[in-house]
Amino acid sequence: MNDSKTGMVFLIGAGPGNPDLITVRGRQLLEECDVVIYDNLIPDELIVTLPERVERRYVGKISSVHKLPQEEINALLVSIAKEGKRVARLKGGDPFTFGRGAEEASELRENGIAYEIVPGVTSASAALAYAGIPPTDRRKASLVMYVTGHKGTACESMVQWDWVAKAKFSTIVIYMGVSQMGQLSDELIAHGMSPDTPAGVIERGTFSTQRVFTATLATLPALAKEKDVQPPALIVIGEVIDLKDQVEWFSGRPLFGQRVMITRPADQAEPVYRHLRDLGAEVLSYPTIATRECADLDGWSRFDRLPEYNRWLILTSENAVRYFVDQYVNRYKDIRKLSTFKIAAIGYGTARAMEHYHLSPDFVPSKATVTTLSREMIEQLTLSGANVVRVRGNLADSTAEDALSAIGANIVPLTVYETFTPTWPENLKEKLFRYLPDFIVFTSGSSADGLVANLSADELNRLSGCKVVSIGPSTTKVIEHLGMKVTVEATTHSIPGVIEKMIEYLHAQR
Ligand code: SAH
Repeated sequence: MNDSKTGMVFLIGAGPGNPDLITVRGRQLLEECDVVIYDNLIPDELIVTLPERVERRYVGKISSVHKLPQEEINALLVSIAKEGKRVARLKGGDPFTFGRGAEEASELRENGIAYEIVPGVTSASAALAYAGIPPTDRRKASLVMYVTGHKGTACESMVQWDWVAKAKFSTIVIYMGVSQMGQLSDELIAHGMSPDTPAGVIERGTFSTQRVFTATLATLPALAKEKDVQPPALIVIGEVIDLKDQVEWFSGRPLFGQRVMITRPADQAEPVYRHLRDLGAEVLSYPTIATRECADLDGWSRFDRLPEYNRWLILTSENAVRYFVDQYVNRYKDIRKLSTFKIAAIGYGTARAMEHYHLSPDFVPSKATVTTLSREMIEQLTLSGANVVRVRGNLADSTAEDALSAIGANIVPLTVYETFTPTWPENLKEKLFRYLPDFIVFTSGSSADGLVANLSADELNRLSGCKVVSIGPSTTKVIEHLGMKVTVEATTHSIPGVIEKMIEYLHAQR
Protein backbone atom coordinates (compact mmCIF):
# COMPACT_ATOMS: atom_id res chain seq x y z
CA MET A 1 0.00 0.00 0.00
CA ASN A 2 2.82 2.36 0.81
CA ASP A 3 6.51 2.25 0.07
CA SER A 4 9.11 3.67 2.40
CA LYS A 5 9.99 6.72 0.27
CA THR A 6 6.57 8.10 -0.62
CA GLY A 7 3.83 8.54 1.87
CA MET A 8 0.15 8.29 1.34
CA VAL A 9 -2.74 10.65 1.95
CA PHE A 10 -6.12 9.61 3.30
CA LEU A 11 -8.87 12.14 2.63
CA ILE A 12 -11.13 11.31 5.51
CA GLY A 13 -14.65 12.54 6.17
CA ALA A 14 -14.95 13.33 9.88
CA GLY A 15 -18.72 13.54 9.89
CA PRO A 16 -20.87 16.53 10.82
CA GLY A 17 -19.66 17.40 14.32
CA ASN A 18 -20.55 14.66 16.76
CA PRO A 19 -17.23 12.78 17.01
CA ASP A 20 -18.97 9.40 17.19
CA LEU A 21 -20.16 9.87 13.61
CA ILE A 22 -16.81 9.24 11.91
CA THR A 23 -16.60 5.89 10.10
CA VAL A 24 -14.71 2.91 11.53
CA ARG A 25 -12.25 3.16 8.65
CA GLY A 26 -11.65 6.85 9.36
CA ARG A 27 -11.08 6.20 13.05
CA GLN A 28 -8.60 3.41 12.41
CA LEU A 29 -6.58 5.49 9.96
CA LEU A 30 -6.46 8.40 12.38
CA GLU A 31 -4.85 6.23 14.99
CA GLU A 32 -2.28 4.87 12.58
CA CYS A 33 -1.21 7.99 10.71
CA ASP A 34 1.88 10.15 11.26
CA VAL A 35 0.29 13.56 10.66
CA VAL A 36 -3.28 14.86 10.82
CA ILE A 37 -4.21 17.94 8.81
CA TYR A 38 -7.57 19.28 9.86
CA ASP A 39 -10.15 22.01 9.43
CA ASN A 40 -12.29 24.13 11.66
CA LEU A 41 -15.45 22.03 11.55
CA ILE A 42 -13.68 18.89 12.73
CA PRO A 43 -14.83 17.58 16.10
CA ASP A 44 -12.09 18.63 18.56
CA GLU A 45 -12.33 15.35 20.38
CA LEU A 46 -10.96 13.49 17.35
CA ILE A 47 -7.84 15.64 17.59
CA VAL A 48 -7.52 15.75 21.38
CA THR A 49 -7.67 11.95 21.69
CA LEU A 50 -5.01 11.27 19.05
CA PRO A 51 -2.01 9.27 20.22
CA GLU A 52 0.72 11.63 21.42
CA ARG A 53 3.11 10.72 18.61
CA VAL A 54 0.73 11.97 15.89
CA GLU A 55 1.64 15.42 14.57
CA ARG A 56 -1.31 17.85 14.29
CA ARG A 57 -1.57 20.62 11.70
CA TYR A 58 -4.52 23.00 11.77
CA VAL A 59 -5.39 24.56 8.41
CA GLY A 60 -8.95 25.52 9.20
CA LYS A 61 -11.03 28.50 8.46
CA ILE A 62 -11.82 31.18 10.97
CA SER A 63 -15.21 32.70 10.08
CA SER A 64 -15.36 32.88 6.29
CA VAL A 65 -11.67 33.65 5.88
CA HIS A 66 -9.38 30.83 4.83
CA LYS A 67 -6.61 30.47 7.31
CA LEU A 68 -4.54 28.72 4.67
CA PRO A 69 -5.48 29.17 1.00
CA GLN A 70 -6.52 25.91 -0.69
CA GLU A 71 -3.40 25.91 -2.90
CA GLU A 72 -1.22 25.98 0.20
CA ILE A 73 -3.15 23.13 1.77
CA ASN A 74 -2.66 21.13 -1.42
CA ALA A 75 1.05 21.92 -1.42
CA LEU A 76 1.33 20.97 2.25
CA LEU A 77 -0.30 17.58 1.63
CA VAL A 78 2.12 16.91 -1.21
CA SER A 79 5.21 17.96 0.70
CA ILE A 80 4.39 15.96 3.84
CA ALA A 81 3.53 12.86 1.80
CA LYS A 82 6.84 13.26 -0.04
CA GLU A 83 8.62 12.99 3.30
CA GLY A 84 7.27 9.44 3.35
CA LYS A 85 4.58 10.08 5.94
CA ARG A 86 1.04 8.76 6.20
CA VAL A 87 -1.20 11.78 6.25
CA ALA A 88 -4.77 11.85 7.48
CA ARG A 89 -6.45 14.83 5.84
CA LEU A 90 -9.53 15.21 7.98
CA LYS A 91 -12.46 17.14 6.50
CA GLY A 92 -15.89 18.04 7.84
CA GLY A 93 -18.81 15.83 6.79
CA ASP A 94 -17.96 14.03 3.57
CA PRO A 95 -14.83 15.06 1.66
CA PHE A 96 -16.57 14.91 -1.72
CA THR A 97 -19.71 16.82 -0.74
CA PHE A 98 -18.98 20.55 -0.91
CA GLY A 99 -15.64 19.65 0.62
CA ARG A 100 -13.10 20.35 -2.14
CA GLY A 101 -11.91 16.77 -1.74
CA ALA A 102 -11.52 16.30 -5.48
CA GLU A 103 -9.28 19.36 -5.77
CA GLU A 104 -6.91 17.91 -3.20
CA ALA A 105 -7.07 14.46 -4.82
CA SER A 106 -6.21 15.89 -8.29
CA GLU A 107 -3.20 17.66 -6.88
CA LEU A 108 -2.02 14.45 -5.25
CA ARG A 109 -2.52 12.52 -8.49
CA GLU A 110 -0.50 15.12 -10.41
CA ASN A 111 2.32 14.71 -7.95
CA GLY A 112 2.24 10.93 -8.07
CA ILE A 113 1.07 10.52 -4.49
CA ALA A 114 -1.22 7.63 -3.59
CA TYR A 115 -4.44 8.46 -1.80
CA GLU A 116 -7.63 6.96 -0.53
CA ILE A 117 -10.98 8.68 -0.07
CA VAL A 118 -12.74 7.71 3.13
CA PRO A 119 -16.35 8.86 2.85
CA GLY A 120 -17.97 10.64 5.74
CA VAL A 121 -21.49 11.22 6.93
CA THR A 122 -22.39 14.45 5.19
CA SER A 123 -24.14 17.07 7.27
CA ALA A 124 -27.31 16.86 5.18
CA SER A 125 -27.69 13.25 6.14
CA ALA A 126 -26.65 13.62 9.78
CA ALA A 127 -28.28 16.93 10.67
CA LEU A 128 -31.60 15.86 9.19
CA ALA A 129 -31.46 12.58 11.12
CA TYR A 130 -30.79 14.45 14.37
CA ALA A 131 -33.54 16.95 13.59
CA GLY A 132 -36.06 14.17 12.89
CA ILE A 133 -36.55 15.16 9.24
CA PRO A 134 -36.28 12.28 6.74
CA PRO A 135 -34.97 13.54 3.37
CA THR A 136 -37.12 11.00 1.55
CA ASP A 137 -40.43 9.53 2.53
CA ARG A 138 -42.78 7.45 0.43
CA ARG A 139 -45.64 9.80 1.20
CA LYS A 140 -43.84 13.10 0.74
CA ALA A 141 -40.59 13.11 -1.27
CA SER A 142 -38.84 10.91 -3.78
CA LEU A 143 -36.14 13.33 -4.90
CA VAL A 144 -33.45 14.98 -2.79
CA MET A 145 -31.31 17.86 -3.93
CA TYR A 146 -28.12 19.04 -2.23
CA VAL A 147 -27.50 22.61 -3.34
CA THR A 148 -24.93 25.19 -2.36
CA GLY A 149 -26.16 28.61 -1.34
CA HIS A 150 -22.66 30.01 -1.72
CA LYS A 151 -21.86 31.91 -4.90
CA GLY A 152 -18.08 31.65 -4.81
CA THR A 153 -17.40 30.06 -8.20
CA ALA A 154 -19.04 30.48 -11.59
CA CYS A 155 -20.52 27.02 -11.28
CA GLU A 156 -21.92 27.76 -7.83
CA SER A 157 -23.56 31.00 -8.95
CA MET A 158 -25.25 29.25 -11.85
CA VAL A 159 -27.53 26.98 -9.83
CA GLN A 160 -30.76 26.71 -11.84
CA TRP A 161 -33.12 27.86 -9.14
CA ASP A 162 -36.00 27.92 -11.64
CA TRP A 163 -35.52 24.21 -12.14
CA VAL A 164 -35.04 23.56 -8.41
CA ALA A 165 -38.25 25.49 -7.68
CA LYS A 166 -40.32 23.33 -10.02
CA ALA A 167 -39.41 19.92 -8.63
CA LYS A 168 -42.42 18.33 -6.95
CA PHE A 169 -42.33 15.72 -4.16
CA SER A 170 -38.79 16.73 -3.40
CA THR A 171 -36.56 17.84 -0.54
CA ILE A 172 -34.05 20.62 -1.06
CA VAL A 173 -31.09 20.81 1.30
CA ILE A 174 -29.05 23.99 0.99
CA TYR A 175 -25.49 24.05 2.30
CA MET A 176 -23.72 27.34 3.08
CA GLY A 177 -26.91 29.29 2.63
CA VAL A 178 -27.61 31.00 5.94
CA SER A 179 -26.34 34.43 5.01
CA GLN A 180 -28.27 34.33 1.71
CA MET A 181 -31.49 32.94 3.12
CA GLY A 182 -33.69 35.90 2.14
CA GLN A 183 -32.50 35.93 -1.47
CA LEU A 184 -32.76 32.16 -1.81
CA SER A 185 -36.33 32.20 -0.54
CA ASP A 186 -37.29 35.10 -2.85
CA GLU A 187 -35.71 33.37 -5.81
CA LEU A 188 -37.54 30.10 -5.26
CA ILE A 189 -40.87 31.90 -4.78
CA ALA A 190 -40.26 34.04 -7.88
CA HIS A 191 -39.77 30.82 -9.84
CA GLY A 192 -43.10 29.45 -8.77
CA MET A 193 -42.51 27.56 -5.56
CA SER A 194 -45.37 28.05 -3.11
CA PRO A 195 -44.48 30.49 -0.32
CA ASP A 196 -46.30 28.12 2.04
CA THR A 197 -43.92 25.22 1.36
CA PRO A 198 -42.59 23.95 4.72
CA ALA A 199 -39.03 25.12 5.30
CA GLY A 200 -36.62 24.80 8.18
CA VAL A 201 -33.09 25.50 9.29
CA ILE A 202 -30.80 23.24 11.31
CA GLU A 203 -27.98 25.02 13.11
CA ARG A 204 -25.02 22.99 14.47
CA GLY A 205 -26.70 19.72 13.58
CA THR A 206 -25.81 16.66 15.73
CA PHE A 207 -24.38 18.84 18.48
CA SER A 208 -26.32 18.95 21.70
CA THR A 209 -26.69 22.67 21.15
CA GLN A 210 -28.34 22.01 17.79
CA ARG A 211 -31.24 24.34 17.05
CA VAL A 212 -33.99 23.57 14.58
CA PHE A 213 -36.53 26.15 13.43
CA THR A 214 -39.36 25.43 11.06
CA ALA A 215 -41.60 27.84 9.21
CA THR A 216 -42.58 28.30 5.57
CA LEU A 217 -40.45 29.24 2.63
CA ALA A 218 -41.75 32.80 2.91
CA THR A 219 -41.36 33.21 6.67
CA LEU A 220 -38.13 31.29 7.39
CA PRO A 221 -35.67 34.13 6.65
CA ALA A 222 -37.30 36.45 9.19
CA LEU A 223 -37.48 33.69 11.78
CA ALA A 224 -33.82 32.78 11.27
CA LYS A 225 -32.88 36.41 11.65
CA GLU A 226 -34.92 36.79 14.79
CA LYS A 227 -33.28 33.67 16.27
CA ASP A 228 -29.85 34.80 15.09
CA VAL A 229 -29.09 31.53 13.29
CA GLN A 230 -25.36 31.23 12.57
CA PRO A 231 -23.29 28.90 10.39
CA PRO A 232 -22.82 26.00 10.22
CA ALA A 233 -26.45 25.51 9.32
CA LEU A 234 -28.50 23.83 6.62
CA ILE A 235 -31.72 25.03 5.06
CA VAL A 236 -34.28 22.31 4.34
CA ILE A 237 -37.28 22.85 2.10
CA GLY A 238 -40.06 20.35 1.47
CA GLU A 239 -43.12 18.58 2.84
CA VAL A 240 -40.95 16.10 4.80
CA ILE A 241 -40.50 18.80 7.43
CA ASP A 242 -44.06 18.07 8.55
CA LEU A 243 -42.86 14.65 9.78
CA LYS A 244 -40.52 16.19 12.33
CA ASP A 245 -42.94 16.26 15.22
CA GLN A 246 -43.68 12.56 14.79
CA VAL A 247 -40.12 11.27 14.50
CA GLU A 248 -37.90 13.72 16.35
CA TRP A 249 -35.91 12.01 19.11
CA PHE A 250 -32.77 13.94 20.05
CA SER A 251 -33.98 16.98 21.97
CA GLY A 252 -35.72 14.96 24.68
CA ARG A 253 -32.49 13.65 26.23
CA PRO A 254 -31.84 14.72 29.84
CA LEU A 255 -28.65 16.69 29.15
CA PHE A 256 -29.74 18.07 25.75
CA GLY A 257 -28.47 21.60 25.21
CA GLN A 258 -25.82 21.38 27.94
CA ARG A 259 -22.18 21.99 27.14
CA VAL A 260 -20.02 20.02 29.51
CA MET A 261 -16.29 20.64 29.70
CA ILE A 262 -14.29 17.57 30.67
CA THR A 263 -10.79 18.23 31.96
CA ARG A 264 -9.61 14.71 32.76
CA PRO A 265 -6.83 13.09 30.72
CA ALA A 266 -8.02 12.28 27.21
CA ASP A 267 -6.84 8.67 27.36
CA GLN A 268 -9.17 8.01 30.30
CA ALA A 269 -12.03 10.16 29.17
CA GLU A 270 -13.61 8.42 26.21
CA PRO A 271 -16.15 6.41 28.24
CA VAL A 272 -17.09 9.65 30.00
CA TYR A 273 -17.46 11.53 26.73
CA ARG A 274 -19.70 8.80 25.36
CA HIS A 275 -21.81 8.47 28.49
CA LEU A 276 -22.47 12.22 28.48
CA ARG A 277 -23.27 12.29 24.78
CA ASP A 278 -25.69 9.39 25.19
CA LEU A 279 -27.52 11.59 27.65
CA GLY A 280 -27.65 14.35 25.04
CA ALA A 281 -24.85 16.60 26.30
CA GLU A 282 -22.26 18.30 24.14
CA VAL A 283 -18.86 17.32 25.39
CA LEU A 284 -16.04 19.83 25.31
CA SER A 285 -12.84 17.86 25.60
CA TYR A 286 -10.23 20.04 27.25
CA PRO A 287 -7.83 17.72 29.02
CA THR A 288 -5.83 19.79 31.48
CA ILE A 289 -3.60 16.97 32.60
CA ALA A 290 -2.08 14.00 30.88
CA THR A 291 0.05 11.14 32.03
CA ARG A 292 2.83 9.15 30.49
CA GLU A 293 4.83 6.13 31.49
CA CYS A 294 8.02 6.75 33.39
CA ALA A 295 10.81 4.34 34.03
CA ASP A 296 11.73 4.10 37.73
CA LEU A 297 14.87 1.99 37.34
CA ASP A 298 15.77 2.11 41.00
CA GLY A 299 12.20 1.18 42.04
CA TRP A 300 12.05 -1.77 39.67
CA SER A 301 15.43 -3.08 40.69
CA ARG A 302 14.27 -3.03 44.34
CA PHE A 303 11.03 -4.65 43.21
CA ASP A 304 12.97 -7.47 41.53
CA ARG A 305 14.93 -8.14 44.70
CA LEU A 306 11.97 -8.06 47.07
CA PRO A 307 11.88 -11.06 49.46
CA GLU A 308 9.08 -13.47 48.63
CA TYR A 309 7.10 -13.31 51.88
CA ASN A 310 4.33 -11.06 53.16
CA ARG A 311 4.29 -9.08 49.93
CA TRP A 312 1.79 -6.29 49.40
CA LEU A 313 1.03 -4.05 46.49
CA ILE A 314 -0.74 -0.73 47.08
CA LEU A 315 -2.81 0.58 44.17
CA THR A 316 -4.64 3.87 44.58
CA SER A 317 -5.61 4.99 41.08
CA GLU A 318 -6.63 3.82 37.66
CA ASN A 319 -3.33 5.11 36.29
CA ALA A 320 -1.34 3.22 38.89
CA VAL A 321 -3.03 -0.03 37.85
CA ARG A 322 -2.71 0.57 34.13
CA TYR A 323 0.91 1.70 34.06
CA PHE A 324 1.98 -0.86 36.66
CA VAL A 325 0.43 -3.86 34.91
CA ASP A 326 1.82 -2.78 31.52
CA GLN A 327 5.34 -2.41 32.88
CA TYR A 328 5.08 -5.55 35.00
CA VAL A 329 3.95 -7.71 32.09
CA ASN A 330 6.66 -6.20 29.92
CA ARG A 331 9.24 -7.19 32.51
CA TYR A 332 7.95 -10.52 33.79
CA LYS A 333 6.01 -11.67 30.69
CA ASP A 334 3.45 -13.56 32.77
CA ILE A 335 0.83 -12.01 35.06
CA ARG A 336 0.66 -15.17 37.21
CA LYS A 337 3.95 -14.25 38.87
CA LEU A 338 2.03 -11.45 40.56
CA SER A 339 0.25 -14.03 42.71
CA THR A 340 2.96 -13.75 45.35
CA PHE A 341 1.51 -10.32 46.17
CA LYS A 342 -1.60 -9.34 48.05
CA ILE A 343 -3.24 -6.18 46.79
CA ALA A 344 -4.57 -3.25 48.79
CA ALA A 345 -6.63 -0.80 46.74
CA ILE A 346 -8.90 2.23 46.97
CA GLY A 347 -11.29 3.98 44.62
CA TYR A 348 -13.88 3.29 41.97
CA GLY A 349 -11.53 3.93 39.01
CA THR A 350 -8.91 1.64 40.56
CA ALA A 351 -11.47 -1.13 40.99
CA ARG A 352 -12.63 -0.75 37.38
CA ALA A 353 -9.06 -0.86 36.07
CA MET A 354 -8.29 -3.94 38.20
CA GLU A 355 -11.40 -5.68 36.91
CA HIS A 356 -10.18 -4.97 33.42
CA TYR A 357 -7.03 -6.99 34.16
CA HIS A 358 -8.99 -9.66 36.05
CA LEU A 359 -7.47 -8.71 39.39
CA SER A 360 -9.35 -8.27 42.64
CA PRO A 361 -8.14 -6.59 45.82
CA ASP A 362 -7.39 -8.43 49.08
CA PHE A 363 -7.81 -5.34 51.18
CA VAL A 364 -10.13 -2.34 50.75
CA PRO A 365 -10.35 0.24 53.56
CA SER A 366 -13.62 1.72 54.81
CA LYS A 367 -12.91 5.09 53.15
CA ALA A 368 -11.22 5.77 49.80
CA THR A 369 -8.32 7.90 51.03
CA VAL A 370 -4.65 7.03 51.27
CA THR A 371 -4.57 8.01 54.94
CA THR A 372 -7.42 5.63 55.80
CA LEU A 373 -5.82 2.93 53.68
CA SER A 374 -2.50 3.00 55.49
CA ARG A 375 -4.13 3.41 58.93
CA GLU A 376 -6.51 0.49 58.48
CA MET A 377 -3.81 -1.69 56.90
CA ILE A 378 -1.67 -1.11 60.00
CA GLU A 379 -4.61 -1.77 62.35
CA GLN A 380 -5.87 -4.91 60.65
CA LEU A 381 -2.83 -6.63 59.13
CA THR A 382 0.55 -7.79 60.38
CA LEU A 383 2.89 -5.60 58.44
CA SER A 384 6.03 -5.37 60.53
CA GLY A 385 8.73 -6.78 58.25
CA ALA A 386 6.26 -6.98 55.35
CA ASN A 387 7.43 -6.14 51.84
CA VAL A 388 5.16 -3.41 50.54
CA VAL A 389 5.28 -1.87 47.08
CA ARG A 390 3.57 1.49 46.87
CA VAL A 391 2.72 2.03 43.18
CA ARG A 392 2.45 5.75 42.48
CA GLY A 393 2.60 8.67 40.11
CA ASN A 394 5.36 11.27 40.37
CA LEU A 395 3.10 13.71 42.23
CA ALA A 396 1.87 11.38 44.99
CA ASP A 397 2.85 12.37 48.52
CA SER A 398 4.57 9.98 50.90
CA THR A 399 1.68 9.49 53.38
CA ALA A 400 1.51 5.72 52.87
CA GLU A 401 5.27 5.24 52.76
CA ASP A 402 5.82 7.21 55.98
CA ALA A 403 3.09 5.45 57.95
CA LEU A 404 4.12 1.97 56.87
CA SER A 405 7.85 2.37 57.31
CA ALA A 406 7.18 3.79 60.81
CA ILE A 407 5.80 0.38 61.86
CA GLY A 408 8.74 -1.48 60.37
CA ALA A 409 7.50 -2.47 56.92
CA ASN A 410 10.03 -2.66 54.11
CA ILE A 411 8.47 -0.18 51.73
CA VAL A 412 9.39 0.25 48.05
CA PRO A 413 7.97 3.30 46.27
CA LEU A 414 7.55 2.50 42.59
CA THR A 415 6.79 5.46 40.31
CA VAL A 416 5.15 4.12 37.15
CA TYR A 417 3.77 7.30 35.58
CA GLU A 418 4.23 11.01 35.53
CA THR A 419 1.77 13.84 35.05
CA PHE A 420 2.17 16.77 32.68
CA THR A 421 0.07 19.65 31.33
CA PRO A 422 -0.85 18.90 27.72
CA THR A 423 -0.86 21.69 25.17
CA TRP A 424 -4.23 22.16 23.51
CA PRO A 425 -4.58 22.12 19.73
CA GLU A 426 -4.21 25.58 18.22
CA ASN A 427 -7.86 26.49 17.73
CA LEU A 428 -9.21 24.94 20.92
CA LYS A 429 -8.87 27.88 23.28
CA GLU A 430 -10.56 30.22 20.84
CA LYS A 431 -13.51 27.81 20.62
CA LEU A 432 -13.77 27.57 24.39
CA PHE A 433 -14.59 31.25 24.61
CA ARG A 434 -16.81 31.28 21.54
CA TYR A 435 -19.04 28.52 22.94
CA LEU A 436 -18.76 28.81 26.72
CA PRO A 437 -19.42 25.63 28.70
CA ASP A 438 -22.45 25.28 30.99
CA PHE A 439 -20.57 22.90 33.29
CA ILE A 440 -16.86 22.39 33.98
CA VAL A 441 -16.22 18.97 35.47
CA PHE A 442 -13.19 18.24 37.64
CA THR A 443 -12.55 14.63 38.53
CA SER A 444 -9.33 15.35 40.40
CA GLY A 445 -7.55 18.25 42.04
CA SER A 446 -4.76 18.02 39.49
CA SER A 447 -7.20 18.58 36.61
CA ALA A 448 -8.27 21.81 38.33
CA ASP A 449 -4.62 22.81 38.79
CA GLY A 450 -4.09 22.00 35.11
CA LEU A 451 -6.87 24.33 33.99
CA VAL A 452 -5.33 27.19 35.91
CA ALA A 453 -1.96 26.35 34.33
CA ASN A 454 -3.48 26.44 30.83
CA LEU A 455 -5.33 29.77 31.17
CA SER A 456 -4.47 33.35 32.07
CA ALA A 457 -6.24 35.05 34.99
CA ASP A 458 -8.33 37.02 32.52
CA GLU A 459 -9.32 33.88 30.62
CA LEU A 460 -10.27 32.14 33.85
CA ASN A 461 -12.42 35.09 34.72
CA ARG A 462 -14.36 34.65 31.49
CA LEU A 463 -15.32 31.18 32.70
CA SER A 464 -16.68 32.49 35.98
CA GLY A 465 -20.31 32.07 34.89
CA CYS A 466 -19.88 28.32 34.33
CA LYS A 467 -21.14 25.82 36.88
CA VAL A 468 -18.30 23.86 38.45
CA VAL A 469 -18.79 20.17 39.22
CA SER A 470 -16.48 18.32 41.59
CA ILE A 471 -16.13 14.57 42.04
CA GLY A 472 -15.67 14.85 45.82
CA PRO A 473 -14.42 16.78 48.85
CA SER A 474 -10.67 16.57 48.21
CA THR A 475 -11.11 17.82 44.64
CA THR A 476 -13.45 20.53 45.93
CA LYS A 477 -10.76 21.69 48.35
CA VAL A 478 -8.29 22.20 45.51
CA ILE A 479 -10.88 23.97 43.33
CA GLU A 480 -11.79 26.36 46.13
CA HIS A 481 -8.16 26.96 46.95
CA LEU A 482 -7.74 28.05 43.31
CA GLY A 483 -10.48 30.63 43.84
CA MET A 484 -13.34 28.88 42.02
CA LYS A 485 -16.75 28.11 43.49
CA VAL A 486 -18.13 24.57 43.35
CA THR A 487 -21.78 24.39 42.27
CA VAL A 488 -22.30 20.63 42.41
CA GLU A 489 -20.36 18.01 44.38
CA ALA A 490 -20.91 14.31 43.75
CA THR A 491 -21.95 12.17 46.71
CA THR A 492 -20.73 9.00 45.05
CA HIS A 493 -17.18 9.83 44.06
CA SER A 494 -17.27 8.37 40.57
CA ILE A 495 -18.12 9.50 37.05
CA PRO A 496 -21.66 8.04 37.24
CA GLY A 497 -21.99 9.85 40.58
CA VAL A 498 -20.95 13.14 38.95
CA ILE A 499 -23.39 12.74 36.07
CA GLU A 500 -26.25 11.79 38.37
CA LYS A 501 -25.71 14.97 40.41
CA MET A 502 -25.61 17.15 37.29
CA ILE A 503 -28.96 15.77 36.13
CA GLU A 504 -30.38 16.26 39.62
CA TYR A 505 -29.14 19.84 39.64
CA LEU A 506 -30.76 20.59 36.28
CA HIS A 507 -34.06 19.08 37.42
CA ALA A 508 -34.02 21.28 40.49
CA GLN A 509 -33.42 24.36 38.30
CA ARG A 510 -36.31 23.60 35.94
N1 SAH B 1 -18.20 18.53 3.43
C1 SAH B 1 -19.19 19.03 4.35
C2 SAH B 1 -19.77 20.34 3.91
C3 SAH B 1 -18.80 21.48 3.97
S1 SAH B 1 -19.52 22.99 3.47
C4 SAH B 1 -20.29 17.99 4.53
O1 SAH B 1 -20.28 16.97 3.83
O2 SAH B 1 -21.15 18.19 5.39
C5 SAH B 1 -19.97 23.71 5.00
C6 SAH B 1 -21.46 23.72 5.16
O3 SAH B 1 -21.91 22.45 5.58
C7 SAH B 1 -21.96 24.66 6.21
O4 SAH B 1 -22.07 25.97 5.72
C8 SAH B 1 -23.31 24.09 6.53
O5 SAH B 1 -24.26 24.43 5.56
C9 SAH B 1 -23.03 22.61 6.41
N2 SAH B 1 -22.73 21.99 7.72
C10 SAH B 1 -21.59 21.44 8.10
N3 SAH B 1 -21.69 20.94 9.35
C11 SAH B 1 -22.96 21.21 9.75
C12 SAH B 1 -23.69 20.93 10.94
N4 SAH B 1 -23.14 20.30 11.97
N5 SAH B 1 -24.97 21.34 10.98
C13 SAH B 1 -25.55 21.98 9.95
N6 SAH B 1 -24.90 22.26 8.81
C14 SAH B 1 -23.62 21.87 8.71
